[in-house]
Amino acid sequence: MRANSDYAADRGARYKRAARMAERPGKPGAPHHQREHVVMRQLLGPFAAALLLTMPACAQAPASTSPDAALIEDVVVANHILYDQGVVDGFGHVSVRSSKDPSHFLMARSMAPGLVTASDILEFDLDGNAVNNPQGRAVYLERFIHSEIYKAHPEVKAVVHSHSPSVIPFGATGVALRPIYHMSSFLGAGVPIFEIREAGGDATDMLVRNPALGAALAQRLGHSSVLLMRGHGDVVVGDSVRLAVFRAIYTEVNAKLEAEALRLGQVTFLNDKEAAASVATNSALIDRTWDLWKTKAMGSRN
Ligand code: MN
Repeated sequence: MRANSDYAADRGARYKRAARMAERPGKPGAPHHQREHVVMRQLLGPFAAALLLTMPACAQAPASTSPDAALIEDVVVANHILYDQGVVDGFGHVSVRSSKDPSHFLMARSMAPGLVTASDILEFDLDGNAVNNPQGRAVYLERFIHSEIYKAHPEVKAVVHSHSPSVIPFGATGVALRPIYHMSSFLGAGVPIFEIREAGGDATDMLVRNPALGAALAQRLGHSSVLLMRGHGDVVVGDSVRLAVFRAIYTEVNAKLEAEALRLGQVTFLNDKEAAASVATNSALIDRTWDLWKTKAMGSRN
C-alpha cells in the first residue's frame, strides 16, 4: 500500500499542469439563439433583426437556462449514466459545485442513483448541511466526502463516490492502479489510497460519516483525480460533472483491464509523457462519450 502512495505523491506535482490543461472545457459554439439572430439578419436585414433583438430573451428561453438548472440536469443525468455503466449500484453519489455560490454544492437526497430526478437534488454547504431541505428529507451519510473535498480543493467542481467493483482489489492490496491505456491516462497523476484506520481508528464501519474523516480523505487526495478507499471504493474528481463521470467510468475499466493484464504477465503502462499527452488530447473528447452514455442511460426519459 505504501508503494502505491509514494508513487502517487511523486507524480502528483508533475501531472498538475497536464491535468489543468485537460480540465479546460472545450469552447462551445455560439449559443443557438445567437446563430438564429445571424440567420435572421441575413434574411430580414439589419433593421428587422435589431427589432428581434429588442424582444426579451427570457420570452423564448426555457427555465432551464439558469446556470444551476443546467447543473442540476447534468447531475441527474450523471446519476443515471453511472448506474447504467455499472460504476454505482444502489449506493454511491455524484455532486457538482454550485455555479452561483462556490461554497455550496448540489447532490441528490439519500436514494439509489438510478432513480434520481431533478426534484431530488438538494443544495449543501461546505459543512455538509442541506440548505434547502424544509421537508427534512434523508441525506447521504457520506456527504462529507463531497463537502470536505470542495472545501480543500477550490479547483474541484464535481465529485463522484462509488463502490466501483473492479477498483476494490487495488485498494485492498496496494497494487498500484496505473494507466494501462490512453482512455485512463488521467491515472498517471497517481492514485493515493485512503486508509480510514489512520484517521478513524480500527473499528469504523468504513464510512466517511463525519467532517474529520472527510477532511483526512480530502487531504490524501491531493492533486490526483482518483483516490482509492481501502475496503470501500473510490472517489473521482474533475472540473465538471462530465469529466468526473468520464474518469469514474474509465477508472473502473482500467482496473478491470489492469487486473487481467497482471494475470497474463509483465505490464507496460503509459509512461509519464505518454499519459500527459493523452490527457491533453482526451480533454477535447469528453462530450462524445457523455452524449452516448446519456442517450443509453436516459432512454425514453431523454
Ligand atoms: Mn460509500
